[in-house]
Amino acid sequence: MNEIEYKLHIDDVIRRVETARLKVNAHHIVKIVAVSKYSDEAAIEKLYHIGQRAFGENKVQDLERKSHALEDLPLEWHFIGNLQKNKINKLLDINPALFQGLDSLELAREIQKRLEVREMSLDCLLQINSAKEESKHGVLPEDAIAIYKTIQKECPNINLKGVMSIGAHTDDKEVVKESFITTHNIYKELEGASICSMGMSGDFELAIECGSNMVRLGSIMFPKD
Ligand SMILES: *Cc1c(COP(=O)(O)O)cnc(C)c1O
Repeated sequence: MNEIEYKLHIDDVIRRVETARLKVNAHHIVKIVAVSKYSDEAAIEKLYHIGQRAFGENKVQDLERKSHALEDLPLEWHFIGNLQKNKINKLLDINPALFQGLDSLELAREIQKRLEVREMSLDCLLQINSAKEESKHGVLPEDAIAIYKTIQKECPNINLKGVMSIGAHTDDKEVVKESFITTHNIYKELEGASICSMGMSGDFELAIECGSNMVRLGSIMFPKD
């Protein structure tokens, strides 16, 4: 794809997000986080020049390398992956705009300790394993609200902004939809939550129609041809 074709392609993605969000209502605003985990710095810079500002990585080392290499650009970095305890300090050094993968009370407590020492805070989303898949991280839907409230109470340096979920891993649209509805129902119950992050390249329109206001788009934002 040349530059013009790429810009038209991104325009088309934005138009699809627009169409889906308007089905919810005119005031429903959706943010696109471009997931750059399979893309290099040059590709990120290209997308930046088209107007994209928020980018997501799922490995702490990659986030560190790319955010450092591109530090002169006003980018907003999200960490969207699974965080191992031994990587907490490295993530806090990078200080991302949003950590989307807080997936247990235990991890929250561990992060809280380090935040306290550093006298800093971190915006986070609680990850929900809405389809209860063994391959996925996240808290179970039935535990989510209690865990969310406990983190709010016990971890003052963690700013919980809402929830994040990955749609059910199946071609059955009804099952995927069900998993999005499960996450959105939890989101609606949470006081003060403002972000419901769900939807990827293959299912973002459905996710938006189910109430998502943040989509994490990888392959569609970085087409390979
Ligand atoms: C890779 C990834 C995405 C983006 O996936 P695509 O299907 O390429 O859009 C979104 N969210 C998470 C958590 C990911 O790991």
